Amino acid sequence: MYKKRTNTYNSYLCFMIKNQLKQLKQWLDKPATVVIIPHKNPDGDAMGSCLAWQGMLNQLGHSTSVIAPNDYPTFLHWLPGHDSVLIYENDQELANKLIAGANIVFTLDFNTLKRIDQMGARVAESAAKKVMIDHHQEPDDYADIMFSNPAIGSTCEFVFQIIDAMGLAKHINQDIASCLYTGIVTDTGSFRFPSVTSATHRAVATLIDAGANHSEIHEKIKDNARPDRLKLLGIALKNMVFISEYKTAYITISQDELDACNYQKGDTEGFVNYGLSVAGIEMAVLMTESKKEEMIKISFRSKGDLAVNLFAKTYFEGGGHINAAGGKSDKTLRETEAYFLKSLAAFLS
Ligand code: 5GP
Ligand code: MN
Repeated sequence: MYKKRTNTYNSYLCFMIKNQLKQLKQWLDKPATVVIIPHKNPDGDAMGSCLAWQGMLNQLGHSTSVIAPNDYPTFLHWLPGHDSVLIYENDQELANKLIAGANIVFTLDFNTLKRIDQMGARVAESAAKKVMIDHHQEPDDYADIMFSNPAIGSTCEFVFQIIDAMGLAKHINQDIASCLYTGIVTDTGSFRFPSVTSATHRAVATLIDAGANHSEIHEKIKDNARPDRLKLLGIALKNMVFISEYKTAYITISQDELDACNYQKGDTEGFVNYGLSVAGIEMAVLMTESKKEEMIKISFRSKGDLAVNLFAKTYFEGGGHINAAGGKSDKTLRETEAYFLKSLAAFLS
């Protein structure tokens, strides 16, 4: 039988229209100097939402800068607007000046200033008004306007809804549509995660009508690997360990293994999901050694109501969504593996 999935945020948007949207409209009434910031290690949703929002604000006559805490994978470098993105790590002085001088700072796809490292203090001390647009749980209280709703599958979909609710959908051009489509497709696992609703597909229909070429975008994001990346995937899959007792699969990748495959940022993107493709597996984990950052970066994915964000927060100084989270460890790779196994037993028993 046909069952309508409720779009929980539609009623939320109605409420929002009366409050936050009215305020935001007022602030954007006259030309403003705007800074737009994604989280550290920006992904498709973070960059897509920032660049789309920048494109929209530019059309409205505002002066905008997108400042990313650090660089993002090359498979996102085709995004319209990429050339003008400032990387905080490489250009701190200019970035600090822009943040200090901004009228409005938008923080997109994150909800705690900890997610942008040293930039967080600069944003906090700036006199600029702060606006959060995000879909993670448990937002911090740093923004003057909070668009925060974990029910929405991607920040890009949220940005689309905000644009639409502000009556600005007519300004969505091909560049903006392509950016928004990218974030929606990457954060929903190509429309397969439970967070996808009929509203997601309606948003995407509008984006395609506005010129987003879904097939080309998928190719740019997915079919751009170097042979070395596939070799690394081979190593990762070989390293995969299954713990059937806990319906868990995990992968470790050492710095030596990364080096052997001439690792580049973004090469391990998506590796963690392979564990979940195995029948009966409900949790998949990827632990990647980073000598440069002196830590083990960990990705968690799950199915159903297994809350990996809680697991990441409890044991690995991280967080995220119920089914997709991240964290870190300062131990060695082998120590981290042992600690993970112990934590898993404690968490699931
Ligand atoms: P990924 O595994 O792709 O790096 O991250 C998956 C999800 O977890 C993303 O939504 C990301 O925002 C979140 N996440 C990743 N690392 C961290 C972290 O260190 N802290 C928090 N709070 N969230 C994280
Ligand atoms: Mn996101």
